[in-house]
Amino acid sequence: MPKTAGIYIHIPFCERKCTYCNFNTTDFDSPLSADYVQAVLAEIVHTGERLSLDSHKLAADTIFFGGGTPSIITAEQIRSLICACNDSFNIAADSEVTIEINPGTLEPGKLRDWKSAGINRASVGVQSFRDDELVKLSRTHSASQARATVAALRNAGFNNISLDLIAGLPEQSLEDWRLNLDEALRIRPEHLSLYLLEIKEGTQLFAQIKRNQRARPDDDLAGDMYTMICEAAGEAGYEQYEISNFALRTVEPSESPFRSKHNLKYWTGAPFYGMGCGAHSYNGRSRWVNIAKTENYIEAVMTTGRGIAEQHDLSNEDNAAEALFMGLRLNEGISLDAFSADYGVSVIETYGPELERLSESGLVEIEPGRLKLTHRGRLLSNEVFVTFV
Ligand code: SF4
Repeated sequence: MPKTAGIYIHIPFCERKCTYCNFNTTDFDSPLSADYVQAVLAEIVHTGERLSLDSHKLAADTIFFGGGTPSIITAEQIRSLICACNDSFNIAADSEVTIEINPGTLEPGKLRDWKSAGINRASVGVQSFRDDELVKLSRTHSASQARATVAALRNAGFNNISLDLIAGLPEQSLEDWRLNLDEALRIRPEHLSLYLLEIKEGTQLFAQIKRNQRARPDDDLAGDMYTMICEAAGEAGYEQYEISNFALRTVEPSESPFRSKHNLKYWTGAPFYGMGCGAHSYNGRSRWVNIAKTENYIEAVMTTGRGIAEQHDLSNEDNAAEALFMGLRLNEGISLDAFSADYGVSVIETYGPELERLSESGLVEIEPGRLKLTHRGRLLSNEVFVTFV
């Protein structure tokens, strides 16, 4: 049965660049953001027309506003983008509609307006509950603004809130991280994304570490933090369903209803369509990415209706490899029978020697009918994934 699609809308604007960030962002500029929203609206309309078959609109059940900082644009702009999606696609009535929020970007009335526009899930970029850590990351908000944002969301009736935090910051001790983690768990959001810091080339942090201005985080300490995350979240009633993602259980031991439905599209090979500069799309047969630079994207879309920079058609082999390493991100791993049925190849026969090596290293486990990462495999997932690319 074909999987239902998700819609991603990229809002690239930020107040300033955080030191660790390698996302596609640009400094906030109100006139530019107005032009940008017009271009994304045009892309949504054009994409809806292109994907409609015999007047049947493409069915989708998630919309995700990611960034950048989607909460920086006006509630009216967010509403117009949701309305355009509803007009151009067949958006299910019970769709998950998420917005990423940076603390400090909420003006009075914004939450009420988002709710009435259809936003039903909020993902708050907390990153740390310590002001000294936030300053070092060049975040534009304080810990108290993050707490106030979560409280405001609750007061406005949001009952599906996710918090993002980063562990393994330079100079962060295990005790420092424990304080952050404990506060996040005390708030009891429905979902937690708890990432280990990755130092990406091209970021300010990468340069600072190279110049010895900041300490390089210790791998063993990061490993201890990851173990702490998984144990503490589990004890607090969260289901770890992906390497860095935890959803609050409502009924033990059933699957949590608060798993991110949109992000599951990426991990389960469902189609997704990205709108906006630098946004990625996948339809099961090919993958494409939009022009990254905001101004160039606007010009292309306003001229042609599309802003694609690159497109790649995928072979069955490409799809199989991708399904394998994306599926392994999930704690439940992949079903070996379903994989054979979908791609016509046996994982065990294709990757036998590699899987034996990974299993001997304690990185994967093969249960009857399933292949999964172990806890150690999740910590060292990049080592596993290079085997399949
Ligand atoms: S707010 Fe998010 S997207 Fe913007 S610079 Fe910081 S980490 Fe990057």
